[in-house]
Amino acid sequence: MEDWRRDIGKSLGTKLRGSIRLNEEMAPYTTYRIGGSADVFVEVESVEDLQKVAGFLAEHPKVPWQILGGGTNVLYPEHYRGVVIHPGKGLSKIKKKEDRVIAGAGAELLEVIKQAAEWSLGGMDFLAGIPGSVGGALKGNAGAFGRRIAECVELVRGFDLAESKEKELKQEEIEWSYRKTNLRAALFIYEIVLKLEPRPIMECMHEISRVLSERMAKNPSEPSAGCVFVNPEPPDVTAGRLIDELGFKGRRIGDAMCSPQHANFIVNVGRATQADVLTLITEIKKAVKERFGYDLVEEIKIIRETMEEHNG
Ligand SMILES: Cc1cc2nc3c(=O)[nH]c(=O)nc-3n(C[C@H](O)[C@H](O)[C@H](O)COP(=O)(O)OP(=O)(O)OC[C@H]3O[C@@H](n4cnc5c(N)ncnc54)[C@H](O)[C@@H]3O)c2cc1C
Repeated sequence: MEDWRRDIGKSLGTKLRGSIRLNEEMAPYTTYRIGGSADVFVEVESVEDLQKVAGFLAEHPKVPWQILGGGTNVLYPEHYRGVVIHPGKGLSKIKKKEDRVIAGAGAELLEVIKQAAEWSLGGMDFLAGIPGSVGGALKGNAGAFGRRIAECVELVRGFDLAESKEKELKQEEIEWSYRKTNLRAALFIYEIVLKLEPRPIMECMHEISRVLSERMAKNPSEPSAGCVFVNPEPPDVTAGRLIDELGFKGRRIGDAMCSPQHANFIVNVGRATQADVLTLITEIKKAVKERFGYDLVEEIKIIRETMEEHNG
């Protein structure tokens, strides 16, 4: 084992409120249920923890690292030779201030929506059922039914792990596009202020149930990371339609299968590996390019074994 892996416990172990685990299996942290161990897994509980982790990373500039939220949009390799940084309970609290909800980045998106409803605040119900954390949703401007989380955001608080600096960004200071923001890859989002609308609790609850049942009917039930590809621009065609027309539904490499229910989902039907999914992705991209001329771009975040740059 290289020095930095041996030393991380010594240099951070007693200093963090959160925890450090070595050789942590990543599959259970993801909806894909794919991936082997990460050398180091750090759960951070406070901004002070983030500051200490940033200090360690500054002293070890060659060590790869990556931020993990709810793990619903990521594909891990057999071995990640770096540090995975994940928000713990201390960064997952949900608070209310007038018609704002202040959510810790690690809070589950659906929990935030339900808690807001209990406080008679609505307006983000259309996001119900998108799995994952509110931090991950913000980073990727998650959306559904033609709407995006950007609509509900007032302020984002983050800690830049490369510059070791806290940052506060207003909604209008962020560039939002389809499943994307321009937030720096090194920015660990730790808190989001959501501006919602006063609404009767029953109305919010009813809307949440309606959205949840609509989504359940559409999404495959096997483990996945959601849609694999972003829809091409201009959006007159969906990636799913192109893949379906090429007859990929049911195509299988190892235990990775193009879902018979939704062609833009590659599901894990057993013990799929990253390599299985990547082979299928390559086949699909090649066929779509040859037949339709589109260059499909992955929406899921593919984590490489020794990723030096931080996953954006
Ligand atoms: C069945 C299914 C259905 C889905 N349907 C939709 C849908 O309708 N619409 C949609 O938009 N998405 C959908 N997704 C994709 C996924 O749920 C979203 O992208 C989700 O918002 C990702 O959040 P996460 O916390 O799981 O992020 P992760 O998967 O953990 O991470 C995704 C990216 O965000 C970064 N990130 C995560 N947390 C933070 C943080 N605190 N600070 C900085 N960076 C961070 C990670 O580094 C990574 O680059 C679906 C996924 C599944 C499995």
